[in-house]
Amino acid sequence: MNKRDFLKTISLSSIMIHTSSFSQIDYSKSSPSNKYKYTSPLDIAQEESKNINQSQYEQIIPQNEINFWDKPRYISLHRVSTGERKLINYFSNKQINKQEYWFASYLLRDVEEKTMMYMDLKLLDLICAIQAWIRYYNINPEFQILSGLRTVEHNKRLLKPGKNNESAALNSMHIYGKAIDFYVPQLSVSQIAKIAEIFQAGGIGLYPQRNFIHLDTGRIRKWKN
Ligand SMILES: [Zn+2]
Repeated sequence: MNKRDFLKTISLSSIMIHTSSFSQIDYSKSSPSNKYKYTSPLDIAQEESKNINQSQYEQIIPQNEINFWDKPRYISLHRVSTGERKLINYFSNKQINKQEYWFASYLLRDVEEKTMMYMDLKLLDLICAIQAWIRYYNINPEFQILSGLRTVEHNKRLLKPGKNNESAALNSMHIYGKAIDFYVPQLSVSQIAKIAEIFQAGGIGLYPQRNFIHLDTGRIRKWKN
C-alpha cells in the first residue's frame, strides 16, 4: 500500500490483530484498568504484507522490528509554545529509561503553571504506536504538542465562557497526566483519529476547525467538536 492509498483508506479495522500481551509494563498501578486492547502496529503491517512478495516485505518491514513492543520505544515530541523538541527513548533493554521518561513528562508539563508530573506510561505507548504507524508511511511523525498535563486551576480557567474549550468531563484526563492535545502537520485531524482508533486505548476528541486532536487513556469514547 502506498502513502496515498493509506491516507485514502486508512480505516484498518478489518485487518486488526489483537495481541494479549503487548507490553511487559505493569500498568495496574498507574492506571485504573489494564483491560484495553492494544494492537502492535507492526503486527498489522505484517498481516497487511501477506499479499506482497518477500522482497517487497523485507524492504518495508525490517525483520528485526517485528517484535515491536520488545524493541526500544521512541516518541518524537515538539512543544509548540516553548519550541522544545526531543526524540525520546523512554523504554529500552525491556525497561523504562527513567531519565528519558522524565524528559517526556517535562515536555508534556503544564507550561503555564510550571508544573509537571510523570505522565501515564500507557499514553506514551499510545504515542509510540501511532508514531510508528505514521513513520512507517514515511511521514514525519513528530507530535506538535499544544497541551499535556493541566493543573486543576488551569483546567478551570479553560472552562470559563468564551474560552471555547473542551468540556470539563472530557478535560479531566489532562489533570491526571493521561491526555494530550496535538497535531501532525502532514495529517488531518480525522486521519490521526483513524490511526488512534486502531489501538482502542481511550478517548479521541476531534477539533478539526481548530486543527488539533485530543487523545487520552481514559474510557474508550469519541467526540467531535
Ligand atoms: Zn485535550
